[in-house]
Amino acid sequence: MSRSLVGLVIDTLEFAREGRSVSGSVPVSALPRLLDVVGTADALLECELHGRRENGRNWLSLQIRGEFDLICQRCLGPMPFVLETDAELQVIAPGEAWPDEALEDGALRLGADAIAAETAQAVTDLIEEEVLLALPVAPKHEEGCEPPARSDDKRAASPFAVLAKLKKH
Ligand SMILES: [Zn+2]
Repeated sequence: MSRSLVGLVIDTLEFAREGRSVSGSVPVSALPRLLDVVGTADALLECELHGRRENGRNWLSLQIRGEFDLICQRCLGPMPFVLETDAELQVIAPGEAWPDEALEDGALRLGADAIAAETAQAVTDLIEEEVLLALPVAPKHEEGCEPPARSDDKRAASPFAVLAKLKKH
């Protein structure tokens, strides 16, 4: 069994500069924002975090794998989902310029994000953020499901509306 990453706190800049690596697992139940959209709280996410310094810049690469159920937006039933996401995060040191997506020549890689350096970054927060970005906004079974027969007047606020809002940032 792999080690738990719950509670692990890193200095992101130091982690990248020193080329450190850590791998382990995180239960969905440890990620509160994910619990709202995932139907399987006991699912485990397997994660790898690697730091590196390249061309004077500091990077974290984060791989996350997991299988859990999302909630189908049509029938509200469970929908199996396989998560495979690889994120590149540029760690911006205090005073360092933020990458300009339009102008910078290749410094910001395709699909890379920039994050401010933190001396006490919870690894689970990085993981939660990337998982939320990797989820479909409105998951639906491809076929064979129908909306629940009983329709209530007052519908519960969809957690996916919250997620859609997050994705705009
Ligand atoms: Zn469905």
